[in-house]
This record gives sequence, C-alpha cells and structure tokens, in this order.
Amino acid sequence: MSLVVMKFGGTSVEDPAAINRTAAIVAGRVAMGNLPVVVVSALAKVTDQLLRAASCAAKGDRTGALAISSRLRSRHRDTACALIKNPAESAALVTLIDQKFDSLDEILRGLAAILELTPRISDLVVSYGERISSRIVAATFCERGIAAAHVDARDVIVTDSQFQKAVPQDSIIEKRAAEMLRPLIEHGKVPVMGGFIASNEAGITTTLGRGGSDFTGALVGGALSASAIEIWTDVDGIMTCDPRVCPEALRVKVISFEEAAELAYFGAKVLHPATILPAVKKNIPVLVLNSRNPTNDGTRIISLAPHCKSPFKSIAVKKKLSIIDVVASRMLMTHGYLSEIFAIFDKHQCPVDMVSTSEVSVSLTVDSNDKLPAIAADLSQLADVKYEGKKALVCMVGEDIRGQSGIAAQVFAAIRHINVRMISQGASEINMSFMIEEEDAEEAVRSLHAAFFQNPDPAIFDVEAQKGQLLAPSS
Ligand code: ASP
Ligand code: MG
Repeated sequence: MSLVVMKFGGTSVEDPAAINRTAAIVAGRVAMGNLPVVVVSALAKVTDQLLRAASCAAKGDRTGALAISSRLRSRHRDTACALIKNPAESAALVTLIDQKFDSLDEILRGLAAILELTPRISDLVVSYGERISSRIVAATFCERGIAAAHVDARDVIVTDSQFQKAVPQDSIIEKRAAEMLRPLIEHGKVPVMGGFIASNEAGITTTLGRGGSDFTGALVGGALSASAIEIWTDVDGIMTCDPRVCPEALRVKVISFEEAAELAYFGAKVLHPATILPAVKKNIPVLVLNSRNPTNDGTRIISLAPHCKSPFKSIAVKKKLSIIDVVASRMLMTHGYLSEIFAIFDKHQCPVDMVSTSEVSVSLTVDSNDKLPAIAADLSQLADVKYEGKKALVCMVGEDIRGQSGIAAQVFAAIRHINVRMISQGASEINMSFMIEEEDAEEAVRSLHAAFFQNPDPAIFDVEAQKGQLLAPSS
C-alpha cells in the first residue's frame, strides 16, 4: 500500500465547501487503499490577517488588532459549525477554537502593551492559522468517516531557531515522524497536521517561511519515504505560461525537479522552491493537483524529465524588478571589485536575481525595494550607479536547451520587436533569462509561446485539453 503525503493549500481549505471537497479527495484515496498523511495550510488569507493583527498590536492599535482576531474567530467558528453536524463534536470544536483565540488575544494585548514585535512572537501569532485549520479539517474528516488523527506539526517538524525562516533538522524530523506518524499510519489512521509551523528543539514555535506548507509536505514525505507528495492547489498544475496572459497555455504533464525549482524561483506561484529538495534527495515524485478539478492529472515533478521534442517546458515572468547598472573604468584589469559590490548587497540583505558583467560595468537585478537608494548610495562610493524600476525578468526553462545550438537566436528572433535590457543564460544550462520593460512582458510571453509551443510534444504537454478548449464554445 502506498503512503502519500497530501498537502492542501489555503484555497483548498478556505471555506466549508472547499474543506468538504478536500475530505472527499482524501476519502477517495483511502478507498483506493492508499495511506494518506494530510498537511494543511491555514484557511486562505488567514496568515496575512494574523500578521496584520500582530503588526497593528505592536503599533499600539489594540482595538484594531482585536477586531481582526474577532473576525477570524467568527470565520473559524462558522466554518466549524457548517462542517460538523454532530452537536457534541461541533461544541467541542468550537470550544477549542475559542480557547485558541482567547490565547491569541492575550498575546495581541501583550504586544499592544510592549509595542514590539519580534520574529519569535510573529511566528507564534501566525502559527494559530495552521493550528486551528488542521483541527477543523481533522474533525471534518472524522465526521466524514475518515479515521483522522490530529497531530501537532510542531512535535514533528523540528527546526533551528531562525524564526520566520527556520531551517528543518532532517534527522530529528525523521525520528519524530517514525515515532509519531508511523504508528498512526500502521493503525489505519490518517494523520492530519498543519503545514508551515514547526518548533525548535526547546519546543518554541517557529515557521518555515511564507508558503512553507509545501515544504512541510515534502519534509514529511521525505521522512516517511512516501511514494509521492501531492500538492493540492487551485490550478491544474504547472502551465507553459500564465494562462491569463496567453490562453493557448498548456498544462505541463511532466517536468524535472530542476526545471520546477527554476520556475518556482522565478515566480511561478505553484509551489515553494524548497519543496523540491527533501523530495529530490529521496527521489520522491511531487504532483501538483487541483482540488477543484481532482480528476485532472496535474503536473508530475520527477528527477529526470523524459526528453521533450521542443527545447522549453515553460515561460515564467517575474515583475517589479529593478535593474542597477554599476559602471567604473576602475574595474578594468582589477580584482576584488565584484566582491566589493556584492558585499554591499549583502550588507543590505538584498538578494540579487541576475548579474551580467563586462570589463567596465556590472548590471544586477533585484526585487524593487525601499533599500535601493541606500544601496545605490553605498555603490556610488565605488563607481557610477544608475537604477531603474518597472522591469520584468522573463525566464525560459527547459532541460533540452542543454547543448542545443541556435536556441538563443530563436528566442531573440521571436521577440525582435522588444527591447532587451540584460541577458543571462543560467549556469544550470536549463534556463535562459532576459530583462525587459515591465510593460512589454505580456507581449514577450505571447510571442515566445507562439514560437516555441506551436507543435507541443504530447508526451510532455496536455494537448488534449487545449483541443477541448479550442472546441468549447466561448461564453
Ligand atoms: N499559511 C502559510 C502562508 O500563507 C503557509 C502556506 O500556506 O504555505 O504563507
Ligand atoms: Mg502555497
């Protein structure tokens, strides 16, 4: 019997209807003889609201913070009552929700008194989202006949103490999963736990960073050597490009870990890039599936993607970028210059996306942020600096560009009408990226899609759906 980790994102548990769909999907798996371990996010938007409550409180807006918490309390209570019909179970769940919100309110009042929000307290506040959602989901499963057992994720996922982006301790997680999850599974139970939340070895609550529930899914899958990790979301999987930009976008049926990581990094919202790692290490396939369309096959992410007839699998775009040009004749024949430049970005804790250099100039791209003037001021100690916002990075990903000649010519021919500011062919040899004006991004994607996905390889892309779409009468 195969053990599958099924992670459901915020939209898959956003309201009673979504939680019922999720329960039906899991019940289907149990009926098939699978052994699911379920990881859930907080109800959609709850994490953002909890963070807002915390920052309101820390600014002294006690009333505002408690008002947010009170709305969240009602939403969770209403959701629980709509789902759980058994009066005793429903009352028990509502009591539990109330207890959690009472203690959250206490923390918010404390924050409003001390007027300081530390990363540690921020993690404690946001943890309520997953702590409560996982209770509601577990109770719903039980009522729908699934033998669910709620597990506090903080007892299994142990991290270091870097609050807000804690690093998982793999060997401890493996041990805890063996002690806490394995026996439940062996007794025919379906463990249900929150994603994203964890604790350090002292038991203090930490989180894995925004979007971290996918990471939890992969960690649990890795620790239990699951046969697959399923990421249930509200899209059909990884697409060849954003379907809102280009209606001809196709579902990618199968993609390699490396390609998916590259896409995730470049803003494809489908999954957290770090998800890939624990899965890759153990060679566990990751499936991206749609809980609104559960019969769709989604995208399968595997170690080695099969050969594809066309060079690229997908086109991703990252917007709201700035480009920084550093020009200095001093750079000619000197060494250590690049490291000085990077030291400045490091000092401002500003990640750099793409770099391109010539003898006398360096161009770098970063997410537009309010540290840019300070960074530019520091850089101007070394050289002439210019920076400009409203840029977009287009990233073409595909393992089959490795070693193929003429690809760059085809790419730039397809967008010959668009001004390209910066080019980089990734060292990984599986992406080709370039920087353009934000306003040209959509046009670039459409032109590239038309050029490279005209004759899609049916082994890799879902051509049938596209045919269906084209045949379907427009409404
Ligand atoms: N709820 C968390 C967030 O919104 C984690 C997740 O859903 O992946 O970031
Ligand atoms: Mg997510």
